[in-house]
Amino acid sequence: MYGMKKFQEALKSSKFILVDTTLRDGEQTAGVVFSNQEKIRIAKMLDSVGVHQIEAGIPVMGGDEKKAITQIAGLGLGASIMAWNRANVNDIKQSMECNVDSIAVSISSSDIHIKHKLNSSREQVLENMGKAVEFAKSSGLYVSVNAEDASRTEYDFLLQFAGVARKAGADRLRICDTVGVLEPFHTYELISRLIDDTGMDIEMHTHNDFGMAVANALAGAKAGARFLGVTVNGLGERAGNAALEEVAMALGHLFGEDLKVKTKDFRELSDYVARASGRSIPPSKPIVGTNTFAHESGIHADGVIKDPSTYEVFTPEEVGLERQIIIGKHSGSRAVQLKFQEYGINLSAEESAELLEPIRSATVDLKRTLFDKEIMYIYEEYLKQKEREKSGTTS
Ligand code: MN
Repeated sequence: MYGMKKFQEALKSSKFILVDTTLRDGEQTAGVVFSNQEKIRIAKMLDSVGVHQIEAGIPVMGGDEKKAITQIAGLGLGASIMAWNRANVNDIKQSMECNVDSIAVSISSSDIHIKHKLNSSREQVLENMGKAVEFAKSSGLYVSVNAEDASRTEYDFLLQFAGVARKAGADRLRICDTVGVLEPFHTYELISRLIDDTGMDIEMHTHNDFGMAVANALAGAKAGARFLGVTVNGLGERAGNAALEEVAMALGHLFGEDLKVKTKDFRELSDYVARASGRSIPPSKPIVGTNTFAHESGIHADGVIKDPSTYEVFTPEEVGLERQIIIGKHSGSRAVQLKFQEYGINLSAEESAELLEPIRSATVDLKRTLFDKEIMYIYEEYLKQKEREKSGTTS
């Protein structure tokens, strides 16, 4: 029953599979709640962008959450719809009532979590996980086993954990860097070794506590992890998760892997999730931030005007943005000329050079870049001044 069309195809043919958890881990961000309508909209957008699997939420929470997941599973999307569960049969029964095609069975594997959070033992963890996976598999569902806090788990126990998961029929193992303590060099070694030792399909689920969620996802990918867990805008617990748009663009441009993702819709998707989550996109956010294609400094603006590839690695259109030449303290005369061309005014090199001084001093006074209107006021003043000088010299 599991595996909607696009997910099934990806399982057969795609080197990497994107698993988006904006609706689960993203919503777990402190203070973030999506309405059901927003969840459905986000799921549709994720599907249309080309994400392969959507982790839609936690059915056992009941109420609205369960309703939204059921609705998303009923949309007939190409992406697989996964529900998150603790390692127990009741959670999974709740998920099955939502008609999802895939199940995430999550349980901690680190001693810190087993002792202090679960108040349990390694043996009990293995037993509960094995039983839960067997139950989900007996219903024909696709199953990911999530080793929570995997990055702080003793390696030998992680192997044992993986062995039990595989024996119970798990389709993949999610390596959760729950507290974000991995770094890319260690990640590469850990995942290479784990794949060698288990032969299992691995998913990277990385957190950004040290700003390395994307780097760790990519290090895992390089080591052979096929599934990459992401969220739109990197939304997620604490410092967030690996950002969908960053992972997808890095795989495309730095690894040369075409995931057939509709990247031109990234900004729209990011905007929507930003509004729905009440977490605005920082201007310097990689890939989709407004500043990604804003050029102010004279040298950069001049370069970009001559040939965008001088200071841009990909085009703004590729991610749904626009190039902007910003007029500010660091602007040069070429940028000023270009700005006036937008308004049908062709300045000579001399005029633009002369305008640069009052423009720069205005930006320093105001401590910001100028609005186009302000630039026009400066231009009008400049023309009046010229006029006065002219009449002064002729009379
Ligand atoms: Mn997480």
